[in-house]
Amino acid sequence: MKKILRHAVLLTSALLLAACGSNNPTAETTATSEKTATSSSDATSGASQQEYTDPTELKDSYDVIIIGAGGAGMAAAIQAKEDGANPVVLEKMPIAGGNTLKSSGGMNASETKFQKEQGIEDSNDTFFDDTLKGGQETNDQELLRYFVDHSADAIDWLDNMGITLDNISYSGGASVKRIHRPTDGSAVGGYLVDGLIRNVHEREIPLFVNADVTAINEKDGRVNGVTVKIAGEEKTISADAVVVTTGGFGSNEELITKHRPDLKGYVSTNSEGSTGDGIKMIEDLGGQTVDMDQIQVHPTVIQKNGMLISETVRGEGAILVNQQGKRFFNELETRDKVSAAETALPEHYAYLIFDNALATRAKQVDFYKEQGVVEEGATIEELAKKINVPEADLKATLDTWNQAVADKKDAEFGRETAMDYDLTEGPFYAIQIAPGIHHTMGGVKINTNTEVLSKDNKAIPGLYAAGELTGGLHGNNRIGGNAVADIIIFGRQAGAKATEFTQK
Ligand SMILES: Cc1cc2nc3c(=O)[nH]c(=O)nc-3n(C[C@H](O)[C@H](O)[C@H](O)COP(=O)(O)OP(=O)(O)OC[C@H]3O[C@@H](n4cnc5c(N)ncnc54)[C@H](O)[C@@H]3O)c2cc1C
Repeated sequence: MKKILRHAVLLTSALLLAACGSNNPTAETTATSEKTATSSSDATSGASQQEYTDPTELKDSYDVIIIGAGGAGMAAAIQAKEDGANPVVLEKMPIAGGNTLKSSGGMNASETKFQKEQGIEDSNDTFFDDTLKGGQETNDQELLRYFVDHSADAIDWLDNMGITLDNISYSGGASVKRIHRPTDGSAVGGYLVDGLIRNVHEREIPLFVNADVTAINEKDGRVNGVTVKIAGEEKTISADAVVVTTGGFGSNEELITKHRPDLKGYVSTNSEGSTGDGIKMIEDLGGQTVDMDQIQVHPTVIQKNGMLISETVRGEGAILVNQQGKRFFNELETRDKVSAAETALPEHYAYLIFDNALATRAKQVDFYKEQGVVEEGATIEELAKKINVPEADLKATLDTWNQAVADKKDAEFGRETAMDYDLTEGPFYAIQIAPGIHHTMGGVKINTNTEVLSKDNKAIPGLYAAGELTGGLHGNNRIGGNAVADIIIFGRQAGAKATEFTQK
């Protein structure tokens, strides 16, 4: 029988913190203490436990090596195994999940069975157009076409594995309700990662943590394995194909500043492992990169700790006001535009304002309250006092907004979505937010087969990539909900194509 090291990873608290978009010190401390617990002894928490494969079980050779156990990596692993390969997943952090664990809003998809059941009219073409418009027509349109045409299938694939995303809402830049969330409306990341890990285990796919891949190896122009540091040793593992799913570089200040000096000093919402390793390793093999300076700044980030306030809050109907208590922009415009409007305010921050009914619909708010970032007032006037905004002006803003919701017409800023609910049920809430680094849209260049392309646009044999480390799909602005869709759609494709390559 296989020896499995049972780590108690205190996962429940880590999932909860991370899934709600927190990048706060508590979340990072959890990860660090797990590292210590893992190397010394098996800790027990009584919380939900996850099992990772014992480092002594690492073999010298696999069909497919997958680097990084975020959503793209685990989707690739599951698909590769389903297609008959013998894959392994190597993750450098003490737990699986990466940025995927932090994702909160949901996953975009069009023409899904859940949209149809709920009477939401959508089409792959509309999804294509919205994404292209959001990316100011700079998106790689071949990747985008593949993406929208396979989004409904990705929702079904997850559903068949017990990961059901049937609660649908609006996200910024989407013309219809398209962002799919867990049934209870909670954050997508913890639920998705838990479900993917469960499916990885059910298929007996080895998943090693604390396994830092430092190089992708090749011989005669063909990729043939990796070098990995694990349990204090450096090992060379061979494979017929390598899938790189190491995520973006939002936590690598040096790389961010290299490509965007103007973002120096910005807080980041990203996980500790988002350091761009895969991009660097692929560049070392002659791989091509695109759009490296396209770094998304998210408009609703807590400045003291980089905690993201999910777009769900605006998607469910919240408004943004300035220190004068006045709206200043269409809150559901794309992230780049909303961020720019906040930065243009004299105070460079704004307040998200919402009511108790919204707090009930968007479960994330409970977590934000626990984290102490939500101001509360029994009435709008009381809330205004708490945040030092003129009471009469905030009251007038809410009255005008509620009338706009009733009329379905926002005469001030032309907002057209997320106007299903007014803001009338006390208590009322405010969260002070400003922009923060959120997503690196650039990365390695792939084709629709997820083959990594060299500088002369030729596929590097045996090398595949998917997820946030790739560039092109989002162009110069990512629509909220498209990254989780990206990792499932192209993660699966990478697993399938790498497997196909090994079977040739
Ligand atoms: C706070 C937050 C909220 C978000 N909310 C949403 C949302 O609601 N909807 C949406 O569409 N998108 C959202 N996003 C974006 C989305 O979550 C990410 O783009 C996506 O999950 C990235 O998935 P991935 O698998 O490519 O990378 P990740 O999930 O980041 O996984 C990459 C993994 O690779 C590991 N790794 C890195 N280098 C190495 C190495 N050298 N060796 C071994 N392992 C390595 C990392 O540790 C990590 O675990 C959010 C992002 C953040 C930060």
